[in-house]
Amino acid sequence: MALESPNHTQTVAGWAAYDSSGKITPYVFKRRENGVNDVTIEVMYCGICHTDLHYVKNDWGITMYPVVPGHEITGVITKVGNNVKNFKVGDRVGVGCLTASCLECEFCKNSQENYCDQIQFTYNGIFWDGSITYGGYSKMLVADHRYVVHVPDNLPMDAAAPLLCAGVTVFSPMKDSQLLESPGKKVGIVGLGGLGHVAVKMAKAFGHHVTVISTSPSKEKEAKQRLGADSFIVSTNAEQMQSGKRTLDVILDTVSAKHSLGQILELLKVNGTLVVVGAPDRPMELPSFPLIFGKRAVKGSMTGGMKETQEMMDVCGKHNITCDIELIKPDQINEALDRLARNDVRYRFVIDIAGRSKL
Ligand SMILES: [Zn+2]
Ligand SMILES: [Zn+2]
Repeated sequence: MALESPNHTQTVAGWAAYDSSGKITPYVFKRRENGVNDVTIEVMYCGICHTDLHYVKNDWGITMYPVVPGHEITGVITKVGNNVKNFKVGDRVGVGCLTASCLECEFCKNSQENYCDQIQFTYNGIFWDGSITYGGYSKMLVADHRYVVHVPDNLPMDAAAPLLCAGVTVFSPMKDSQLLESPGKKVGIVGLGGLGHVAVKMAKAFGHHVTVISTSPSKEKEAKQRLGADSFIVSTNAEQMQSGKRTLDVILDTVSAKHSLGQILELLKVNGTLVVVGAPDRPMELPSFPLIFGKRAVKGSMTGGMKETQEMMDVCGKHNITCDIELIKPDQINEALDRLARNDVRYRFVIDIAGRSKL
C-alpha cells in the first residue's frame, strides 16, 4: 500500500450534514497538501446522487458526521504533483466514487479497482493517511491522479458531472455484456431515473433496440420521443408484460425501491442476463422458476474501474452523451434532496459549486 503522511493544512469551504436530520449547511474543513501523486481540483459542478441521500440521513448506519457528500465531480486542475504525468494545470477533469484502493490485488492490477476489498470512497471513506474523505459538495478537492479522469472538450462540465457515477454505473455492465461491440441486441432498462435515462442514451448510441420497463405509463412519451427508446412496457400491465416475454437479451435494473425480479426475468430470452445496479436496501424477491426455466442469470455491478471510467467519458464525448440535469445553487441543496427523496427530478440535480452558471 502506498503510504503518505500529507499535512492537512488547506482550508476549504464546503457543505455538510451534521446529523441524521440530513440537513446540509456550510462547513469549513481542511484538506491535505497536494502530494506527489495528487492533483488539486477547483470543483465546478457536483451531481446529487441517490447515495448522497442515504449517507446524509445515515440510512445504512455507517455515516461519519459531519459528512460532505458528492461523488459526481467535475472541475479544473490547479496543481499537479511531481509523479503526475497525464494531467496538467488547466485540464478539465472528473472524479467519481473511488478515492483509493490497495493498488496490489488482482482487481487493482486489472483496473477493476472498484472490486478491491480495500476500496475507499470519495466521501465517508478513510484515505491512506487515516483521514476521513470529504466529497464534492466543496470548492476544492485533492485527489490521487489514479482516480481522476479527463472530461472530453465537447462535453459541458455541468451535464457531464453525473456521468462520473450514474454514467459509469450503467456503462460498466453494458461493456461487461459485450454491448459495446455487438450492436442489434434487445436491451431492457428497468426504471427511467438518473441511471435509467443515461442507460437508454448509451444503449441507443451503441446500436441496440431499447425497451424501457417502468411503473409509470406517463413516461412512455418521454422515453420514446426524447430519449429515443424503441419500445415501452408498463410493468404493472399484465398484458404488456405477457407480450414482452422472452424478447430481451440483457436487462439493466436501475430501480432502488424494493420490487420482485420474477416478472422482469420472464422478459429475458433463454440464457439472458439481468444486471442489478439499483440498490434497494431490503432483499428483492427472486423466484426460482423464471431462473430455471429460462437458464437465466442475475448479477450485480458496482460503479466501474478507472480505465473504463475514462473509456466511458471518451465514448460519451464521441456520441455527445450527457445527463439531463436541473442545475441548482448550493443554497438549494436541501430542497433538491427533499425533491430527490420524492423522485421529483428530471433526471439529476447538479450543484453549481463555483457559481459560474447563470441561474
Ligand atoms: Zn452515486
Ligand atoms: Zn486492490
